[in-house]
This record gives sequence, structure tokens and C-alpha cells, in this order.
Amino acid sequence: MNIKTVTVCGSGVLGSQIAFQTAFHGFDVRVYDLNDELIGKAKATLSGLQTPYQQDLHATSADTQAALNRIRFFTDLTQAVRGSDLVIEAIPEVLDIKQRFYSELGKVADAHTIFATNSSTLLPSAMMDFTGRPERFLALHFANRIWRQNTAEIMRTARTDDAVFEEVIQFARDIGMAALPIHKEQPGYILNTLLVPLLGAALELVVGGVADPHTVDKTWMVGTSAPIGPFGMLDVIGLTTPYNINRNAAEAFPRRAAVAQYLKENFIDQGKLGVATSEGFYRY
Ligand code: NAD
Repeated sequence: MNIKTVTVCGSGVLGSQIAFQTAFHGFDVRVYDLNDELIGKAKATLSGLQTPYQQDLHATSADTQAALNRIRFFTDLTQAVRGSDLVIEAIPEVLDIKQRFYSELGKVADAHTIFATNSSTLLPSAMMDFTGRPERFLALHFANRIWRQNTAEIMRTARTDDAVFEEVIQFARDIGMAALPIHKEQPGYILNTLLVPLLGAALELVVGGVADPHTVDKTWMVGTSAPIGPFGMLDVIGLTTPYNINRNAAEAFPRRAAVAQYLKENFIDQGKLGVATSEGFYRY
């Protein structure tokens, strides 16, 4: 089977980017959200995405307008998914919201339709039984700013059909992504499995008084030929997320508590949240 029509469910930060990227690469795209107000917001977001595609990818305004013209909008799930080959779900990261969504989706979608979750932290096996078609369900995980950070981590469950896995890998390539197959479920996929310990270790070196952030970054950059070090990465990610992660783990792990306190006192309380606020570990 060939994927031609794609429905993106949830039109927030990631859903709108996934819809635009897919339409930009020539697919017919449908966007589904809960009501007209949210669809109105989605239309504005999607229109705004033309600018980074033109600036970062040198797309013409004709290219980006053609992408917009390939997107249709729905507030009725049945109409949104009827005849669709692939549904990409990008609704809130709350397990029971996703489970309820898949119960409904499984009833109204065509039998051939593949379902993919963009969940960052939930394992697809926690949702697969609700889909009614676990063999046609997997994770397809994009990163924010999809047109530049164009990773697509494709993670199967033990029950995903081999052909479905291969088909979604091909789809990811077809929409311009670096397709990264993951053969077993892994919390954090590949990127965060690597990145989270690296960033945690960098913060602990600083909080423990071993070295300052710029020296840690210099070590990493010179030692591995990387263009950016862990503190530069933290600035790009934004310091709120690492602060929340460390604060949540603070009770169980005293070293995490020290990291959370350090981030709060030196950055969060001073409004220095990284690149987005023009200052974090570096000035921008
Ligand atoms: P968001 O809050 O920006 O958007 C969620 C959208 O889903 C909203 O438009 C909301 O109206 C809609 N929604 C809520 N319930 C719905 C339902 N039952 N049916 C249809 N739509 C519904 O969230 P986001 O940041 O785009 O994240 C969405 C998913 O993508 C999450 O699973 C998240 O883990 C994942 N993700 C996010 C990022 C990121 O950087 N934001 C990166 C990778 C993956």
C-alpha cells in the first residue's frame, strides 16, 4: 500500500508542523482538532509556518502556498479520517486522553489506515490495545522545528506488523525526514536516551564545582568536534524543561535537587531561559 492521504490529529505546536511538512512534500493532508476556534488558530499557525520554510529552506512563496492549499480542516473525526491512509496523532501528552482518542478513532477509521503516535514520553504499547489494530500502530516521533531538526524516530511495538513498520519508515523519508528505525520500545527513543544523561552529567559537573559551563562545553566541542556543547544545547532546549525534570526527581535523588536549585536561582528566577529570552548560559 502507498500512503497518499494523511490525517494529523491535534493541531498544536507539533501537529501544525507535521501537517505543514507533510503537505510541503506533496501529500494530501487533513487536520483535525476539537472545535472551530482551535481550527482557526491552526490556520493562522500554518500560514505563519511559511516564513521559516522560506527563510530556512529557501522555499518560494508559491511552494509554501501550494502546501497550504493541500491542507483541509475538520472538527468531525469520522470525516477527517475516512479514506485516510495514515493518521498521525499529536494530541496532549496525557495517557487517558490518548487512550480515549484511540478507542474512538479505531471505530471510525478505515480498516487499512495506519495509526502513529507522536508521543514523546509514553510508550505505544500503553495505547495499542485501545486502537483495535495493534498490528497497524506504532510511534512516529518528530522533534520541534521539524523542518530543521528533521529527525523521525519510528518505534514499533512487539505487535507492529513488519510491513507497516517499513511503510512508515518510507513515509518519513518521503516527507524529508532522517528516518530512524527503532526495533524495540525504548523510553526516550534514541535521541533522549543519549541526550538526557549527557545534559545531566554536564549540570552535575558545574553544580559540584568541578568546572564552569563554558569549560565543559569547550571540552565537549574540542574533544568530539561537536559544533555545540551541552550548555549550548540546554539554551536551545530552554531551561524550563530541564528545571522541571530535575525538580520532579529531586525527592528521590539529592543530586537532582541541587541541580534544580542551581537552575532556579541562577536562571529561572532571573528570567534567563535560554535562546528564547536571549540569555541563558550564553547571550544571544
Ligand atoms: P499542544 O498542546 O501544542 O497541542 C495539542 C493539540 O491537541 C491542541 O490543538 C488540542 O486542542 C488538541 N487536542 C486535545 N485533545 C484532543 C482530542 N481528543 N482530539 C484531537 N485533538 C485534541 O501539544 P504539542 O506540544 O503539539 O504535543 C502534542 C504531542 O506531540 C504530545 O504527545 C507531545 O509529547 C508530542 N511532542 C511534542 C513536542 C514539542 O516540542 N512540543 C516534540 C515532540 C513530540
